Amino acid sequence: MNNNLKDRVSIVTGASRGIGRSIAEAMASLGAKVVVNFSKDEVGAQQTVDNIISKGGLATLFQADVSVLSEAQELIDYALDKYDGIDILVNNAGTTRDQLIVRMSEDDWDLVLKVNLKSTFNCCKAVMKPMMRKRYGRIINISSVSGIAGNAGQTNYSASKSGMIGFSKSLAREAAARNITVNVVAPGFIPTTLTNDLSEEMKQMTLANIPIGRWGEPHEVADAVIFFARDVSGYVTGQVINVDGGMVMF
Ligand code: NAD
Repeated sequence: MNNNLKDRVSIVTGASRGIGRSIAEAMASLGAKVVVNFSKDEVGAQQTVDNIISKGGLATLFQADVSVLSEAQELIDYALDKYDGIDILVNNAGTTRDQLIVRMSEDDWDLVLKVNLKSTFNCCKAVMKPMMRKRYGRIINISSVSGIAGNAGQTNYSASKSGMIGFSKSLAREAAARNITVNVVAPGFIPTTLTNDLSEEMKQMTLANIPIGRWGEPHEVADAVIFFARDVSGYVTGQVINVDGGMVMF
């Protein structure tokens, strides 16, 4: 059994910065060959690849807007051509358009559902046949505690992140017999570009609700992803791990 990720081929969507970069770097540090996906920020994605290569890891980058099915398919095809198989898929690409529902436009709703939820469908659909042929796969979807507990101003985001959880549980049932696991990591508050727009008041209110008393770090989310990515977690599927300092407990 492979207890690190040596020679595993891993795709991380939206890995040009933030949590995705941290996941890509953590996987490469354990020996995975990582495809760093980006949609617009090539400079950031190249930085992720350079960080990995400078530490002796293996990584390559590929541009694709994963919210578009044909582009998600191109990403999967690229990895298949380059590495002859895909072992791990991390659906990390995500975005927000926060607004109270009375002010939320249809475009704000559609975009967030498309980038967060449809991209997960797109990449999973494209990767499923190759993983089934290989009789091996680890799919990890990055949701959010907002998708579990809800958050005012985030009806679109919470719906997309809840949707990812239901999607993952259903796919976990479909894929289990082929030795493919599907799990979810739900971060709490991790300071990144995504959270830049939150007001200081909102950040302090959030902090007051975190029992551990601090915000999380991207590498702490990556550590949970690594657990699901390893061979040793093969008997764990359809599960959600919150990485949120205890913000949401059930
Ligand atoms: P981020 O904005 O820094 O990173 C998001 C990444 O996704 C960016 O690299 C962006 O370019 C990429 N992306 C967006 N749309 C894309 C598309 N269509 N195709 C390909 N890539 C695309 O934010 P982050 O905080 O690093 O978020 C990473 C994931 O973690 C997201 O799914 C987010 O919802 C989730 N999350 C973050 C937090 C947090 O507090 N930061 C909390 C809960 C969940």
